[in-house]
Amino acid sequence: MSDKQQLLDQIKADILEQNICPNLAETATNLVMGDGNIDADIVFIGEAPGKNEDEQGLPFVGAAGKFLNEMLSTVGLDRQDVYITNIVKYRPSNNRDPLPDEKRAFWPFLIRQLMAIKPKVIVTLGRHSMEYFLPDMKISQVHGQAKRITVKLPDGSTDQWVIVPLFHPAAALYNGGMRETLIDDFANIPAIIKQLP
Ligand code: URA
Repeated sequence: MSDKQQLLDQIKADILEQNICPNLAETATNLVMGDGNIDADIVFIGEAPGKNEDEQGLPFVGAAGKFLNEMLSTVGLDRQDVYITNIVKYRPSNNRDPLPDEKRAFWPFLIRQLMAIKPKVIVTLGRHSMEYFLPDMKISQVHGQAKRITVKLPDGSTDQWVIVPLFHPAAALYNGGMRETLIDDFANIPAIIKQLP
């Protein structure tokens, strides 16, 4: 097994052992860690698993996932070319929004996943996954733009990461204007990656 896979397996084991968000764990069927290629240049981060994701143990496998797959294919990618995860890794019951405490509880584990995978670009989907990376920004103003940020790592050191905030595919699915914007922003991702070292 690769070192990366071992690191990712350890993150999952730590979430279980530390009993993160026990209220969510109690009603969830699966802990949904992620899907795709752990050597990918791009990691997509959504909000939290929904019903289908909880049942299958995989992120973005429902309607929003189908739309995400379609957008990937428009830029010549499929799910095996990217890695997909969520900030909150258990389904909130009745598909409610994840609570601030739940996002905060999972944040260090998301950081560890990103440190293991080391993508060139982190694409946040919707405001829940954007707000910790770009706390003072409004998605309506910055969607589709690459932002270089300094992140504080668990050992106290810092690193520079590139974040591209996008609208959430579920929000855009039935909103024509937002859908067009999301498709346009998506189309720019390959050019953003090309410019990076
Ligand atoms: N929406 C999300 O934010 N994540 C999923 O995994 C599915 C739908």
